[in-house]
Amino acid sequence: MNIPVEKPVLVTSALPYVNGYCHIGHLRTYVPADIYVRMLRKMGYDVKFVSGSDTHGTPIVLSAEAQGVTPDEVITKYHAHFKQVFKELHVDFDYYGRTDSETNHRRTNDIVTKLIEHGHVYKQSMKQAFCTTCVRFLPDRYVEGTCPYCGESARGDECDQGCGKHLEPGEILEPHCKICGNEADFKDQEHFFFKLSSFTDFLLFYLDTLGGTLNARNYAKEWVKKELRDWCITRSLEWGVKFPGRDDLVVYVWVDAPIGYISFTEELLKARGEDERAWRRYWKEDKATIVHFIGTDIIYHHCIFWPAMLKGAGYSLPAVVVASGMVKIDGKTFSKTRGDVVWVTEFLERFHPDTLRYYLVAQSSHTKELDFSWQSFAMRVNKELVAILGNLVYRVLSFAYNNFGVVPDGVIADEVVAKIEKTREEVISATEDYEFKKLVDAVMKLADFGNSFFQREEPWHLIKQGDQGRERCGEIIKNVLQLIKAICILLEPVMPAKMEEVWQQLSMEGDVHTVQLDELFVSIESGKALKEPTRLFEKVEL
Ligand SMILES: [Zn+2]
Ligand SMILES: [Zn+2]
Repeated sequence: MNIPVEKPVLVTSALPYVNGYCHIGHLRTYVPADIYVRMLRKMGYDVKFVSGSDTHGTPIVLSAEAQGVTPDEVITKYHAHFKQVFKELHVDFDYYGRTDSETNHRRTNDIVTKLIEHGHVYKQSMKQAFCTTCVRFLPDRYVEGTCPYCGESARGDECDQGCGKHLEPGEILEPHCKICGNEADFKDQEHFFFKLSSFTDFLLFYLDTLGGTLNARNYAKEWVKKELRDWCITRSLEWGVKFPGRDDLVVYVWVDAPIGYISFTEELLKARGEDERAWRRYWKEDKATIVHFIGTDIIYHHCIFWPAMLKGAGYSLPAVVVASGMVKIDGKTFSKTRGDVVWVTEFLERFHPDTLRYYLVAQSSHTKELDFSWQSFAMRVNKELVAILGNLVYRVLSFAYNNFGVVPDGVIADEVVAKIEKTREEVISATEDYEFKKLVDAVMKLADFGNSFFQREEPWHLIKQGDQGRERCGEIIKNVLQLIKAICILLEPVMPAKMEEVWQQLSMEGDVHTVQLDELFVSIESGKALKEPTRLFEKVEL
């Protein structure tokens, strides 16, 4: 979707749940979101990029109980881990917060209070799983059993092994206590419900106008058309944001987690010294475009619960939801117990972060499943980054350095300008369509052209053919250097660290991270001294 360039843009990336280490499945959302943000900035947009750690809910409490520590200790450890991973991968958030912050408690309280005041919340007694051995209610992940929709084994709050549906408390069949393993009973308990069903017409209208990827819109529409049931938004837990007026209940984690997007915007603008009400431009006054990057597993939460909550509380609505396909390992779903998992920290000990960034978008279309394998990773690096891009840069810069020592004189050929212009158009349209694979494919095609142009003009013969030959040779080299400069600008969003290296090898001034797309057509300056180039990528041996 073509979003208006006059309005500021807020891009958010789904919040990692901080009770474990980052694996490459997580990155399918963060890396493309970062690429999108960097590319929008190159296109002249004013963009803020926020995310943060999702810190509430039962899995963290269960982890903490199992380890004999507090939830805060679990969160602090993994929060720091995720921040470090994002830093190493150059996923460059303007702000990365935590949903247990004071701001998020306050904002959640405000939104839930508004929903109550506007008549969207009611109280009802309901059957809730209860363990007579542990003598406690069993919210969400405290209970496991069978999915009532597809019959697969499921957790209390979602059918994670089967159909992927969100499960309401009391829905799961054959419930068992996660702590002691005994069969659980059901017992009445009073809870609060959000009248989601009354938002059906609103959601059908809203989803028709929602931008982003088709998968998000279509899945959500199907669910809304089938039936929307009211949503239980409280849990009997200690850890979380208290439900207004009730000390014994917290709000369900899927209430306060997306509200984190608002709180992080608030915290970011405050940290930048903007006035206290600046966040309202984004979330109250419809003066910005809100873009969410998520995984397909949380479409329900972002395209149904979240807009209904925002609408009900009188907040601005997201304009775009981009949902990435899930990641598999050698054709299998992630499983820590089976070892079908690739930890990001271990990956980065062996390979450059930019090779992973490249692979994650080059391997498959954004909305499709990505099947990770070491063979396909090695193939992308060796056949594309080493053989096409790395070869072009090293071969041409070495030739230029050895024969001229500076950027030679010459006019940029119309053919070269036209190729750059065509690639620019393809890159912009791929960005607007959230097709990051098309983006890298278009730029790699330009690199391919660079290699064949160099090969076709045979500068190594020209250089031996007197002054005239040398002059023509210089012009050819200058043209290929212009192509490399363009490739560098267009690939910076994908491989920021490697393209900074190329930028320096080209002796370019300015910052490749902030340079805009107009710079593509600015002729590379003749006479600038070149440095001895080094190879960009190493071959991956399996
Ligand atoms: Zn199911
Ligand atoms: Zn029990």
